[in-house]
Amino acid sequence: MKIFFLDQSGKPGGAELCLIDIAKPYKDRCLVGLFAEGSFRNLLQQNHIPVQVLTTQAIEVRKESSLAQGLGSLGQLIPLIAKVVQQAREFDLIYANTQKALVVGALASFFSRRPLVYHLHDILSPEHFSKTNRSIAVTCANRFASLVIANSQASQAAFLAAGGRPDITKVVYNGFDAKNYQSQESDVKQIRQQLGIDGQFVVGHFSRLAPWKGQHILIEALAKSPLDVTAILVGDALFGEQEYVQHLHQQVTALGLENRVKFLGFRSDIPLLMSACDLVAHTSTAAEPFGRVIVEGMLCGRPVVAAKAGGAIELVEHGVNGFLVTPAKPDELAQVITTCLQEPEKTANIAENAQAIARQRFDVTAINQQIAELLDKL
Ligand code: UDP
Repeated sequence: MKIFFLDQSGKPGGAELCLIDIAKPYKDRCLVGLFAEGSFRNLLQQNHIPVQVLTTQAIEVRKESSLAQGLGSLGQLIPLIAKVVQQAREFDLIYANTQKALVVGALASFFSRRPLVYHLHDILSPEHFSKTNRSIAVTCANRFASLVIANSQASQAAFLAAGGRPDITKVVYNGFDAKNYQSQESDVKQIRQQLGIDGQFVVGHFSRLAPWKGQHILIEALAKSPLDVTAILVGDALFGEQEYVQHLHQQVTALGLENRVKFLGFRSDIPLLMSACDLVAHTSTAAEPFGRVIVEGMLCGRPVVAAKAGGAIELVEHGVNGFLVTPAKPDELAQVITTCLQEPEKTANIAENAQAIARQRFDVTAINQQIAELLDKL
């Protein structure tokens, strides 16, 4: 089967990293069309996945955009749609990986008469999207998609609550190659020395810097944790959240935590950095659609504490394969951090358990097989 994947982003967020794993088995018979230049293109090339940037003009619709703004951008989309329609005729299927890709893919599917698959990586709730954006996504999916792959039950539930058709929806979790998350002890030691975190109890946060990812909650929790706890914040503001970045730095200064918080920016060596942590913290203040970092922490054999909402609840069972805390409650987070520091054996058992479960549950080969079976049915 020849697949034309579409993704609006030039930057590698969770949806894009997931797409790399999905496209890999099709690399000799697919094309990934992007709506922006950026490092995601390089990542696809490094994985030998054919990629083409279809437009370099930014599409001026944001998650909170109104109908007027949405319609205003339609004119801008016409040349892109024409290009996608033409290219789609060379493929058996259009696979839209993001919301703007869904809109373009829906029209291209109609004109090229190719089936459309929408991989839903978002929670279509008012917390995350304007009413207009939600109804555009649901209308396009309901009317044009033959299949909607939701990345969690939480994403599926929000899609259905927004009016999405249940008969076209299936849940498929992200897949991971467990061997990519194994690090050499010597490399872990070296990176801890390089980062100056040797001898510390290190809590790692791995997310783009954005208010709803809740890095400020971890900083607040750190101020309430024992003095030998340090945090590393890995990730950058991918979508223009500069004000939040500034706010985080001010918060660190105001709490006198300059020596206990390190901002590492965007990194490509996530497995090694996670392995260098004593605890991986996920602190989203709004429901997380899936939460790749939670599974990645587990695969690295590190204990994970996650905010109890959305997809995270499907990944973590408190006290069995990780810890759950109420979102936006730094006190609870500080309590878990302290417990993990004080009860290393119990915590290590939970991490070990989580690793074994995650290896089986999110095995990329099995997940790709599930997707292949769904696509074959189309
Ligand atoms: N990530 C990365 N480098 C960074 C920070 C994050 O490669 O500096 C990766 C992280 O390992 C994960 C993805 O970005 O695979 C984020 O996915 P997640 O589902 O956690 O959140 P999203 O970005 O999709 O909201």
